[in-house]
Amino acid sequence: MQPLKYLNGYPEHLQQSARDLLAQGRLGEVIRRRHDQPHDVRSDRQLYDYVQALKERHLRQSVPLGKVLYDGKLQVIKHALGLHTAISRNHGGKLKASREIRIASVFREAPAPFLRMIVVHELAHLREAEHNKAFYQLCLHMEPDYHQLEFDLRLYLTALEHEGG
Ligand SMILES: [Zn+2]
Repeated sequence: MQPLKYLNGYPEHLQQSARDLLAQGRLGEVIRRRHDQPHDVRSDRQLYDYVQALKERHLRQSVPLGKVLYDGKLQVIKHALGLHTAISRNHGGKLKASREIRIASVFREAPAPFLRMIVVHELAHLREAEHNKAFYQLCLHMEPDYHQLEFDLRLYLTALEHEGG
């Protein structure tokens, strides 16, 4: 049985459906049909504005954003769907937390809902470091369809890896 690293931890029947679609070479097609909205968040500047707008809407009280950028070296799986770095800087004697958000560059070309999902994931880490219950509640607050989108994103990444772009 072919191990599917992005789907590790999901029920076997879901992994099996993914394997069936992969075997037919149709996984990518199915996911792209389900999520056919592109986005035009191309540059790091546009990404910053996009993240900032979502933060303003849902997490205004949280620490200010630091740098926001697409990172071509970021492995989505290795960094558990994104990289969250806490950087403390000294501002006039007062320690202030600032957050850098790096988004794997695969999301530059991904359907719009996947970019939103990963940004929601990273924003939730502004409040919760761990993937715990409070963390997922925050994700659901920002994106009610969070769990389905994370699963679909994992299917999309599986398709990219096995079927190519
Ligand atoms: Zn995370």
